[in-house]
Amino acid sequence: QCPWGAPNTTSISCSLADVMSEQLAKELQLEEENAAFPEAVAVAEGPFITGENIDTSSDLMLAQMLQMEFDREYDAQLRREEKKINGDSKVSISFENYRKVHPYDSDSSEDEVDWQDTRHDPYRADKPTTTPRKGFIGKGKDITTKHDEVVCGRKNTARMENFAPEFQVGDGIGMDLKLSNQVFNALKQHAYSEERRSARLHEKKEHSTAEKAVDPKTRLLLYKMVNAGMLETITGCISTGKESVVFHAYGGKSATEDKVIPPECAIKVFKTTLNEFKNRDKYIKDDYRFKDRFSKLNPRKIIRMWAEKEMHNLTRMQNAGIPCPQVVILKKHVLVMSFIGQDQVPAPKLKDVTLSSEDMKKAYYQILNMMQQLYKECNLVHADLSEYNMLWHDGKVWLIDVSQSVEPTHPHGLEFLFRDCRNVSQFFQKGGVAEALNERELFNAVSGLNITAENEVDFQAEIEALEKMNEDHVQNHGKKLSMFSSDGDPPIYDE
Ligand code: ADP
Ligand code: MN
Repeated sequence: QCPWGAPNTTSISCSLADVMSEQLAKELQLEEENAAFPEAVAVAEGPFITGENIDTSSDLMLAQMLQMEFDREYDAQLRREEKKINGDSKVSISFENYRKVHPYDSDSSEDEVDWQDTRHDPYRADKPTTTPRKGFIGKGKDITTKHDEVVCGRKNTARMENFAPEFQVGDGIGMDLKLSNQVFNALKQHAYSEERRSARLHEKKEHSTAEKAVDPKTRLLLYKMVNAGMLETITGCISTGKESVVFHAYGGKSATEDKVIPPECAIKVFKTTLNEFKNRDKYIKDDYRFKDRFSKLNPRKIIRMWAEKEMHNLTRMQNAGIPCPQVVILKKHVLVMSFIGQDQVPAPKLKDVTLSSEDMKKAYYQILNMMQQLYKECNLVHADLSEYNMLWHDGKVWLIDVSQSVEPTHPHGLEFLFRDCRNVSQFFQKGGVAEALNERELFNAVSGLNITAENEVDFQAEIEALEKMNEDHVQNHGKKLSMFSSDGDPPIYDE
């Protein structure tokens, strides 16, 4: 029955029939939702994906689910083989590197462990447990030093299991093999260089595939959206950045009347790789809105927090009437919003369009206005504002990419604002807008502060002094200085 001729299904806990069943789809859905933040769920649990209408009408979805099931069965089989080969021998070999579903991809709860609970720093390897410094174990005549030939030899044999699985270690398994240090080290050297070589080959292969952009779990999430009818089709990738991948999709029919799905959508998938989000720590770690949560979260949840942040910030902007994508739905690390552009063609970035001097001037004043609105009405600083994150569409500028945006009282908020001002000033001054304020004037115009320093260095020093004052004030009084807050009530963030 199974097209891949999988082993007989009797011993497989999760059969093909099971995975295709609606029951399982619902269970998976529930599991996923429970794993997400409660807050995120409240938003994400929109009218669109309820798990009710998951059917199998989408070929893509079907193929995806089959593939996942195949991978799971493959791994299960691998595990059985591994067990059979190892039996109860002292030396075991691991097939870990052959597995299809890498632990980081899997839904298993093991990798959802909190940092603090386990005191396990995921960035530091565990201390190797070897013979203690003094160089011997035991007492009296039972003493064994680390140079003990027999112990060492056995250990070396056991250590071979750390070699990559494709590295042939012979059939010494189950025998009381003793490898001398010299032989072991030579083998180790060879094994590692082999491993690196095959890793390089593997890498090449992976990068050449068109679907490298998202991992299987994300793909499933996307197909679910299509399957639920929320999205009509996902047409392709618009952009692959360091931290996100953006897709274009045609909107589907809404499940409820009160929410209209835009005809064209942009899907921003935040990358779940563990190494890159670290660069952005500084934005979120000091953001008091997320402070309490940050310390308790694992890397995966922090990435979801980026998506959540972008959603909240976009909503604030939408409420203030700033042209920006409209949020459609948030699911884990995937944010669906309205598409800025038409017929699959995204609106060009400001850096890529040539505007008439008239439009250039218009764009400048619009941005000045938006920066003020953002600051005063949304209580936000963009923090990555430049011609790269502004799109020209319908004769006006649209702001995008606000996952890193912070409130002005963020410990580095004013520095971020100054950087934004510098980018904007420079762009328009170079673009020939004579009226463009310089970065310091723009900063004052946006923030309503009145920093009088004549040169950049002093100006920046004053900014940092202000930030420090605010921090001290927070430390002493537990709240922010009033001079930072806007005239109107700042939007309330529901924690
Ligand atoms: P990154 O963090 O990768 O820079 P962005 O949010 O800036 O993420 O998105 C990357 C690119 O994708 C943008 O430069 C823009 O071209 C495109 N893009 C993002 N969102 C939209 C949208 N809503 N409509 C059209 N294009 C978009
Ligand atoms: Mn961007």
